[in-house]
Amino acid sequence: PLPTVAIVGRPNVGKSTLFNRLVGKKLALVDDRPGVTRDRREGDASLLGLEFRIVDTAGFEDEDPASLPGRMRRQTEAAVREADVALFLIDAREGLTPLDEEIARWLRVEDTPVIVAANKAEGKAGESGRMEAFALGLGEPLAISAEHGEGVVDLFEALRPFV
Ligand code: GDP
Ligand code: MG
Repeated sequence: PLPTVAIVGRPNVGKSTLFNRLVGKKLALVDDRPGVTRDRREGDASLLGLEFRIVDTAGFEDEDPASLPGRMRRQTEAAVREADVALFLIDAREGLTPLDEEIARWLRVEDTPVIVAANKAEGKAGESGRMEAFALGLGEPLAISAEHGEGVVDLFEALRPFV
């Protein structure tokens, strides 16, 4: 089986855009078994010759972050636990939010290795957001742009040890 990368992050940071870019035309398996994987899309990804399974999660969406974990949140947590590495996206333009910090607190106590990527960082737009993301305590953040395909080599280098 291919190694697995789980994309995680709060709503609107660009998780699905990155998923679509990495899966490209090979998007095939969308598992919509009710109540099981409805909010979890998976596909085979390739990045500069690296081949891996990728999971697009949505467990931090449409939920009150202060509430107890709901079904979607539990699915996202399971996806991260089963993954070889978690790719934690933040929005480099907006900077950190309380929900980013909450997700980071959770990821820091999970065993799955984490790569932090500051998305929407095309051009120089994301540099201050990327620097801010050091404070998440999950290592050096990458700067990427899922929409414009920037940061591909850095992402490759970061993923390579895990996939
Ligand atoms: P998700 O909720 O985390 O899955 O985020 P989406 O992939 O749905 O993207 C949310 C919004 O961010 C959409 O309007 C995207 O077009 C936009 N977006 C995603 N990636 C980028 C990027 O690299 N740069 C910019 N400027 N916008 C992006
Ligand atoms: Mg999405």
